[in-house]
Amino acid sequence: MPLGTDFRALIAIQSRLELAKEIPTSRPSASSPPTPPIVRPTARALEAPDTAGYRRLVAPAAISAAKRRSMQAQRSKDTAPEVALRRELFRRGLRYRLHRQVLPGLRREIDIVFPGPRVAVDVRGCFWHSCPRHGSLPKHNRAWWEAKMEANKRRDLDTAIRLRAAGWTLIVVWEHERTERAANRIERAVRRQSGRSSTTD
Ligand SMILES: [Zn+2]
Repeated sequence: MPLGTDFRALIAIQSRLELAKEIPTSRPSASSPPTPPIVRPTARALEAPDTAGYRRLVAPAAISAAKRRSMQAQRSKDTAPEVALRRELFRRGLRYRLHRQVLPGLRREIDIVFPGPRVAVDVRGCFWHSCPRHGSLPKHNRAWWEAKMEANKRRDLDTAIRLRAAGWTLIVVWEHERTERAANRIERAVRRQSGRSSTTD
């Protein structure tokens, strides 16, 4: 993946950002909405490293209260596609864990986890994870959004590399994918890996 130029752009943007001492690391959800954007005269963002040294960005002032509410409504956990997928997997007799941190020392939750066969499922929202088909950037605060999305992509890639290194099979499911098709992919991987682990144990 040609990330070199993206990284340089990101670093250029990040170098203009301010450091924050304490930023909540929980991802936005309906029950705990993200930190309200910090109102500043200019579109500045705050950042703080997570345990892997990746930076979390805090939103600058939204263009309006309505816009802010609509952004906050974008949940990342228990989204409709994720719940539908879980239901389908359960219907097929597959059993899994939810929102598990499988990488030691890293605060990164995997949406759906099959610990035995070591299959991790990441359900990605088209907006937050810049889906190739539906990824888009809001016009307002564009530089901030670019940095945010780039950081998300970079973290996704880093997570994928770490999972693979730890012997996990990662299945990425996009929000726009049909539940049935995604479930097929996951079921195949789980059955295949289950067979493998039972013959090697
Ligand atoms: Zn999409």
